[in-house]
Amino acid sequence: MERRLQHLNWLKVRELVPDKIDTIILPVGTVEAHGSACLGTDNFIPTVISEGIAERVNAFIAPIVNHGITKSLYRYPGGTTIQPETFGRYVGDILDSLVDSGFHNIIIMNGHGGNNDTLKKTAFEFHKKKKANVAVVHWWMLCSEMTDEFFGHAGGHAGTDETAMVHAIDPALAGESDYDPELAYCFVPGADIYPVPGSILLYEKDEGYPEFDRAKAIEYRDKVIETVGQFTEMVLERWRKFDL
Ligand SMILES: [Zn+2]
Repeated sequence: MERRLQHLNWLKVRELVPDKIDTIILPVGTVEAHGSACLGTDNFIPTVISEGIAERVNAFIAPIVNHGITKSLYRYPGGTTIQPETFGRYVGDILDSLVDSGFHNIIIMNGHGGNNDTLKKTAFEFHKKKKANVAVVHWWMLCSEMTDEFFGHAGGHAGTDETAMVHAIDPALAGESDYDPELAYCFVPGADIYPVPGSILLYEKDEGYPEFDRAKAIEYRDKVIETVGQFTEMVLERWRKFDL
């Protein structure tokens, strides 16, 4: 069935929520430089994961929050950033609205590390106020062990993992013809740099450079959807089991 909230009318939502469907996934990302990959990488990935798990966890998908908190890559052309207070209040208002529409469980599907702290704080405040359940899923962190096993090394910002995910959606989004390993910067502890001198950020020395292998990218995307789907299912089952 159609899982995207925007594609339904209010009659359908009234018919199904909350009796048949009480869970909604809210994808959140940002617009930010990602090496040769597209500026919307952090938006396209949580969208594809949400669409991949919605049936399994019997959830609707809310429209994405696609402007987030971009920090060290803000100066690279095309990026947008929202002040943390504004972003937190905006996301908080969306969460409140979803509960007012009848949803009891909200899965925030985050695609961008700069959003983590604010989403965590916003989710906790919302949960306390509304007595609703909320989980913030940072897919690349949740999948890091699987990523290590799959590629034989760690991923990174615009690294193997993120580039494979957008390549699986559409190879044009990965920008292979513009790729140059010089775009990568290996993180060195001991310096905070604005703008950071590379739009591919590797956290382990010389590990995580993008690959442009279509079949492998699709296999990886499916494993990410499986990992996130399994985790989300477990959380929802446990909320229900404990009658929360
Ligand atoms: Zn990213």
